[in-house]
Amino acid sequence: MAILRALEMSKDIEEEIYIYSDSRSVLMAIDSLQDSHYIIFKIKNILKQSDNFKLFWIKAHVGKHGNEVADSLAKKATEKECIDHIVPLPRSWIRFKLKESLIENWQSNWNSSRNARFLFGIFSDVSFNRCLGDFYLNQILTTHGAFPIHQGRFFGRQSLCRCGLDEGTVSHCVYGCPRFHSIRERFFPRNFSVLGFIDLIFDRKACVGLKEIVAVLLRDCLDDC
Ligand SMILES: [Zn+2]
Repeated sequence: MAILRALEMSKDIEEEIYIYSDSRSVLMAIDSLQDSHYIIFKIKNILKQSDNFKLFWIKAHVGKHGNEVADSLAKKATEKECIDHIVPLPRSWIRFKLKESLIENWQSNWNSSRNARFLFGIFSDVSFNRCLGDFYLNQILTTHGAFPIHQGRFFGRQSLCRCGLDEGTVSHCVYGCPRFHSIRERFFPRNFSVLGFIDLIFDRKACVGLKEIVAVLLRDCLDDC
């Protein structure tokens, strides 16, 4: 703040101005390519417009007259009863708060939505860091697409599984349908029946089995067309 004030006070002077600061971190921030703070951004803007300014670092508390005076004035300022200067909020803090609020709203909408409850059962917490873009796995996560129950609900087709034992839900196809017994044997861990979808998705081998099941169901859909 002191550097900014010094620049603002002397920017109309047509001579070389030497500014000394004992804050190495501020001088490094001014020298860096990133504008991490509003004040640093303003300082850089002033420096860009004039070649008259030279900034130097000096060691603190070693008896330099100007530095001692600045210190004593800074101490005096802390004794004031009211604040006469407001420092704007840093951009990083605003960004953090916006992200926090966005996540809260997103989570609240996700909790109360009536859609995608199957997916909610798998991922109840929203996250910016999760991205599952696989075509086959997305059919499982959204329960849309190849599964007979979806085909029945949206396209008036048979919602019963081809095995004839149950509705063609995701749970039936992944855990119970005898048609996929050999796929489960080849790819799933032995205790698959006590594992959740997410455990299977994140198990590399089981994940291949899940995709195989979806691929068979997709072929079924094509056969029915
Ligand atoms: Zn079946």
